[in-house]
Amino acid sequence: MYSDAELLHFITTEDPAEMEELFSAAREIRAGHYGKDVYFRGLIEFTNYCKNDCFYCGIRGSNKNVKRYRLSAEEILNCCRMGDLLGYKTFVLQGGEDPYFTDDRIVEIVQLIRKEYPDHAITLSIGEKSRQSYEAYFEAGANRYLLRHETANDDHYKKMHPEAMKLSERKECLYILKEIGYQVGAGFMVGSPFQTPECLLEDLRFLEDLKPHMAGIGPFIPQADTPFAHFRQGSLNQTLRMVALTRLLLPDALIPATTALGTIDPKGREKGLLSGANVVMPNLSPKAVRKLYALYDNKICTGDEAAECRLCMEGRIRGYGFEPKMVRGDHPSLQLVAMS
Ligand code: SAH
Repeated sequence: MYSDAELLHFITTEDPAEMEELFSAAREIRAGHYGKDVYFRGLIEFTNYCKNDCFYCGIRGSNKNVKRYRLSAEEILNCCRMGDLLGYKTFVLQGGEDPYFTDDRIVEIVQLIRKEYPDHAITLSIGEKSRQSYEAYFEAGANRYLLRHETANDDHYKKMHPEAMKLSERKECLYILKEIGYQVGAGFMVGSPFQTPECLLEDLRFLEDLKPHMAGIGPFIPQADTPFAHFRQGSLNQTLRMVALTRLLLPDALIPATTALGTIDPKGREKGLLSGANVVMPNLSPKAVRKLYALYDNKICTGDEAAECRLCMEGRIRGYGFEPKMVRGDHPSLQLVAMS
């Protein structure tokens, strides 16, 4: 529907009137599918150990300046219990690719959460695994999986990752996750080193092809201990334009206003919602470990308790005329299945 030239134009335009036109088009589409609703997900960052070595990421395996932590199954469950008390109906378990968490351990944790919370959505975000592993987690009760593709351009991917990591494998994981029946989230960083407007065009085309249920889009933010420490952070406006364009191409997708967006601008998440996003993911991790999950520098909300994060987000959202919703917030295609 949109030509490459049109998309490239809106990927790059800094014209305020054109940007407003784009954002209001995205808002309208979002409103058609979700009204003013903003879905809340509780994020539990359960390990910062990682065997990978992505050049942009603060918890990359070779970063010796990270104090590593992992939560026990009981600690993870306690985060869920706190989240449930606060009204959350979705738990998102995210972490580095930590070999300690074998398939058996992940399955056990998912089963424990599922047993206590039969009606909640359980989302995993723990990187690239085999089909068998993904199947085992699904079987245990996981419903959703977040795995950003990071960039859909092969050369760009190679400049951001060690040689052992392959874009084709990451993409393959996304297609497998979809086949198994997960609600799947892909996504990318905006303004990452070596990215061109053409890379962002490829990101949009990849999303069109994969048709994920969710798409996570945030600015790249440098982290001092990584090889990309001295690169510039992604721009606010370009990130907002990418959120809006994603809304145009995937009209009923679940699109978070990300923490990274809130980190580069005090009103970043609100601006994300005004550009077509419809999800927020406040933090449920124990306060003691918040600062240690430092993917990038100056991450916000690392000093707050879970309850404060929820209240703070609620206030921000209502201030902009949006309606916080503590619901499962499945993708519309699945809500129809559930009703029939
Ligand atoms: N290990 C999991 C979770 C990764 S962390 C996985 O492989 O999917 C979640 C996301 O944080 C990543 O997908 C990446 O897009 C983002 N991220 C990592 N480092 C970042 C940085 N320096 N700036 C902005 N976002 C970053």
